[in-house]
Amino acid sequence: MANYAIVGINWGDEGKGRMVDLLTENCGVVVRYQGGGNAGHTIINEYGKFALHLLPSGIFRDGVVNILGNGVAVDPENLCAEIDAVAEKGVFVTPDKLKISDRASLLLPWHRELDGLEEARLADKQFGSTKQGIAPFYSDKYAKKTVLAGELLHPERLREHLSDLLEWKNLTLTRVYGAEGYTMEKLDAWLAGCCERIKPYICDTGLLLREKQADGVNILFEAQLGSLRDIDYGIHPYTTSSNTLAAYAPIGCGCPSLKVDEIIGVVKAYSTCVGEGPFTAEWFGEEAERLREAGGEYGAKTGRPRRVGPIDIVATRYGVEVQGATNIALTKLDVLSYMEKIPVCSHYKLGGETVDRFPFPALLDEAEPVIEYMDGWGEDISGVRRWEDLPEAARNYVLYIEEQIGCRIGYVSVGPERDSIIVR
Ligand code: GDP
Repeated sequence: MANYAIVGINWGDEGKGRMVDLLTENCGVVVRYQGGGNAGHTIINEYGKFALHLLPSGIFRDGVVNILGNGVAVDPENLCAEIDAVAEKGVFVTPDKLKISDRASLLLPWHRELDGLEEARLADKQFGSTKQGIAPFYSDKYAKKTVLAGELLHPERLREHLSDLLEWKNLTLTRVYGAEGYTMEKLDAWLAGCCERIKPYICDTGLLLREKQADGVNILFEAQLGSLRDIDYGIHPYTTSSNTLAAYAPIGCGCPSLKVDEIIGVVKAYSTCVGEGPFTAEWFGEEAERLREAGGEYGAKTGRPRRVGPIDIVATRYGVEVQGATNIALTKLDVLSYMEKIPVCSHYKLGGETVDRFPFPALLDEAEPVIEYMDGWGEDISGVRRWEDLPEAARNYVLYIEEQIGCRIGYVSVGPERDSIIVR
């Protein structure tokens, strides 16, 4: 028995969803432990193509229990929309398949609105929020101004709690932003609609996880975004509002005593980033456009074109360190097949020096990439399934990254489909 975490090493969108989808075969439980509906995993399987935002990626496997832990921003409205969207393609999310921690805070209807109001106030200094209410949600969570999912099971007390929060939040909405306040009628409609629907999924996920553990079931922790977006260790202030690191998984799942045995860090064969913030190895113009097209690099949640560039060894090495990765999945190697020479950002130039350590966030703006080139392989590799069948130049590229980041690359992904993977 072992517990696994699948985490992003970089800025997110590394292809974690496809790795979770693959590895759930050996796991009886899949847990989301942080974040909310502000990013997306794209999964292609026998049911079709899905962009999951809140639902754990194990939802497609029969017999797998999927958990939204207490660290997750549970947005009842978005969750119901997602449950309906997968049902349309024949995947039915029954209460034995999905469990929501009773200790998870609920994203309240005003969080999304506050996100939009604050981004509008910031105007050209925006952080690039997806406006899903995540930053206002986590601010309120730590200010203890949210309600817990479990409170839905105690309606009389919940209404009083919500009415207190409403009074407080309306001060911010009306007096700070000059917006319209909320009413209890609106909250009642929210409670009677999506909140009523999610009730059957709510339970003590800690108890459930301890039982599963005692039965020898493997548990998979599924992270959202990547190391560089972690609230404590990322590129502050261009981070998300939660901890994206594997170390947070036990806290955010409901069972803080669980151990994570294997941490699989997902790294894309090149760099991509959505939203604002320093992105040292960024490409612009025609070469960026070509890579973006080749990799289909448009946001799963927003459809925004992603910023792209060569693999950033400096940032990736840092990401591996803070995640404590024990194994790496390198994804989208097939996308680089069109390149004659493969660029890598091996170091940064900073303050007149060449550095290989990831700088303090405030200095990142001054960092410049040092680019080296490796031989391309110039052939389609999407059908390759064995390490020894990869062209030598492709193997050299993988081995070079492995050596530079100091962690074994155990998986190489060469296409989005479930079986397009080389296990080393
Ligand atoms: P996640 O949030 O980390 O799961 O990443 P996304 O789902 O946003 O982005 C990964 C995208 O790349 C999805 O569209 C996947 O289907 C696709 N993908 C994943 N692995 C590969 C791969 O090895 N090759 C190709 N061509 N596409 C891949």
